[in-house]
Amino acid sequence: MRILVSNDDGIAAAGIPPLVEALSSLGEVWLVAPEQEQSAKSHSLTMWEPLRVRSLAPQRFAVGGTPADCVYLALHELLDFQPDLLVSGINRGSNLGNDVLYSGTVAAAMEGCLHGVPSLAVSLHILPGEQILHWESAAELVRRVGAQILERGLPRRCLLNLNVPNRPLEEIAGIRPCRLGERSYDELVDKRFDPRGKPYYWIGGGHNTFCEEPNTDGPLMAQGVASLTPLSPDLTHDAQLGALSEWSL
Ligand code: MN
Repeated sequence: MRILVSNDDGIAAAGIPPLVEALSSLGEVWLVAPEQEQSAKSHSLTMWEPLRVRSLAPQRFAVGGTPADCVYLALHELLDFQPDLLVSGINRGSNLGNDVLYSGTVAAAMEGCLHGVPSLAVSLHILPGEQILHWESAAELVRRVGAQILERGLPRRCLLNLNVPNRPLEEIAGIRPCRLGERSYDELVDKRFDPRGKPYYWIGGGHNTFCEEPNTDGPLMAQGVASLTPLSPDLTHDAQLGALSEWSL
């Protein structure tokens, strides 16, 4: 088995070594990750400037672009084979509910999915102030989910999104399949002024609350349960598709 690993926290991220180690028990691991932090870059591709690739070691590459760039280049240039599995992560911070639309971690897995590679995104749910990060818990759960993907496969246009509470493995109460929930954010706009008096902004507040709908991903974190959600690139709203047929178009 050959496994492609990417992420959005950058090639030096702390989430990579435990992930690579865990996946090494399932197959040969190739790593193609961004040179720099790319969190919240979603699925963007670098199309208007050159992309540089730095070879770090055999089967290890850093790309001066986005997570989607990494997977695109890996599949079409750097690897001369189609991997059996793609894993993106382990992200520093969860990707729950609406997060998946902003996430570079999920986008790397989505890019794999679009190219027919069974793909998994994995993120560690870290609460503000938590200093000890249990990467090893997430890595072990990835190993379990990854083994199942390799054994059972995934349908076309389906990827998996795994979120793991930041706890020791023995304190995690299993992995539960669930729906994507809703998450709201602090709507931060921090307006500042540069030395020439012109305004500039920092946007993107912290996470606020989860919608408490049953069987959705966010609320599971507080229960110490890892969430596993199947996602699809098909964002069609089926009910409204039917309703649109009644519009005067
Ligand atoms: Mn990230």
